[in-house]
Amino acid sequence: MTRVSNFITIIFLCTFLLACRNKEGNINILLITVDTLRADHLPFYGYSRNTAPFLSQLAKDGVLFEYVWAQWPKTTPSFASIFTASYGRDHGVVNRTGIPLPCEYKTLAEILDNAGYTTLAVVANGAAGSDFFFNQGFDYFIEPWKKSKDPQEIERLGRAEATTNIALELANKIDTKESPYFFWIHYLDPHFPYDPPETFKNKFQEDELFSKHDKKIFIAKTKRRQLGGIGYTQVMDGKDNLAFYIARYDAEIYYTDFWIKKLFEGLQTKGLLNNTLVIFTSDHGESLGDHEYYFDHGRFAYDASLRVPLFFYYPKKIAPKRIPENTVLLNIAPTILEYVGIQNSWNRGISLKECIENKVCRKDPIFAEAGYSPNDSWQKSIKYERFKLILAPNKKVASFLGDKMVLFDIENDPAETKNVIEQYPEQAKKLKTMLSQWIQSKLVPEKDRSICPSTDPSSSTIKQLKALGYL
Ligand SMILES: [Zn+2]
Repeated sequence: MTRVSNFITIIFLCTFLLACRNKEGNINILLITVDTLRADHLPFYGYSRNTAPFLSQLAKDGVLFEYVWAQWPKTTPSFASIFTASYGRDHGVVNRTGIPLPCEYKTLAEILDNAGYTTLAVVANGAAGSDFFFNQGFDYFIEPWKKSKDPQEIERLGRAEATTNIALELANKIDTKESPYFFWIHYLDPHFPYDPPETFKNKFQEDELFSKHDKKIFIAKTKRRQLGGIGYTQVMDGKDNLAFYIARYDAEIYYTDFWIKKLFEGLQTKGLLNNTLVIFTSDHGESLGDHEYYFDHGRFAYDASLRVPLFFYYPKKIAPKRIPENTVLLNIAPTILEYVGIQNSWNRGISLKECIENKVCRKDPIFAEAGYSPNDSWQKSIKYERFKLILAPNKKVASFLGDKMVLFDIENDPAETKNVIEQYPEQAKKLKTMLSQWIQSKLVPEKDRSICPSTDPSSSTIKQLKALGYL
């Protein structure tokens, strides 16, 4: 019986692979993600600092989505959503680091691996590492911080230079004559602490934009703090000026851009960019003092942490354009699956291929969740047309937001400074109904595997997560 079913599977896979090859000609997928990257700190989203000259060129020649949400503004939940095309409320990876990606869920890498792809990853953040089962489906999964026990070396290995060099070395495993590839490269640098290498770190200090962010930050006597100020251990170079930290954050983006350019040049030399669809995005943004929340993400459903960049780059195959319609990160996987010829929707996601190629884009509402509150009392948010609604069932969080339900006119107030619920009660009601319907909907996953083995995160991962302020 087993032999027969194996045989059928092999026949099915061979037929599928042939169909895939004939139809799309072995398209490769290169997914580049940069941790903690706010869309509005990139020049191609209107930022006045030239933080990303190389990415700007790719974005200009690609298809850029103007307004994109992560499903949860924290690394582990966000990547869980990206790789399973489902929400936190579906896969259960919610509100903190350290909840593993359930093995019952198929991942994008597993599907591509089963379809004959060589699957590779270099992941610089332990919060999306194998300790939390993000290696599911990858033939090669490199976690640079595990290569050393020395704290300084661990830090160096987490930087964009190391990420690029390790990725280029790993790329030697690819043989596109044998099989197409899916390569995920995750850069960590814009994550706090903002400490790019010497030659980059002062790139934007005292420039034209600097005085715009001039503001004294409260330094607390506690070690760490994110609300209303920062802890004394988080102070960098003795500075308490917000402008200094924002310039440093921007320098991290500039430094990462520099090494992404090197990555492209290296892959080009190896002939690995032919027939390759490149997807560029981030797992979440960063609160840079907005709403008195400093140098972190995850606590609130404001756009500072939810809104991320997204573009698709496939030169000569898809014409450059900018897409104004809203979208979400969990649509990336179904888009990839349609490009490789598998299916055009998956779990909660819908392929963006029609939108990318023909500008036939859906105008669906988009949803996200955020916060550390337990038992489904975290924040829920919806954006539809020009308005955004946040529900905050938790009393403490609600008092911070101003109310249990707040409405923002994102078009006219992108920084979400003014709750307009009294001016627009009808819009608030409509959005609340849509949000309630979404909360009640539930995904039934295709359970294809048993439960993950239970293991504790390795000591090297715990060290890295501590250094990043997760634990
Ligand atoms: Zn992250």
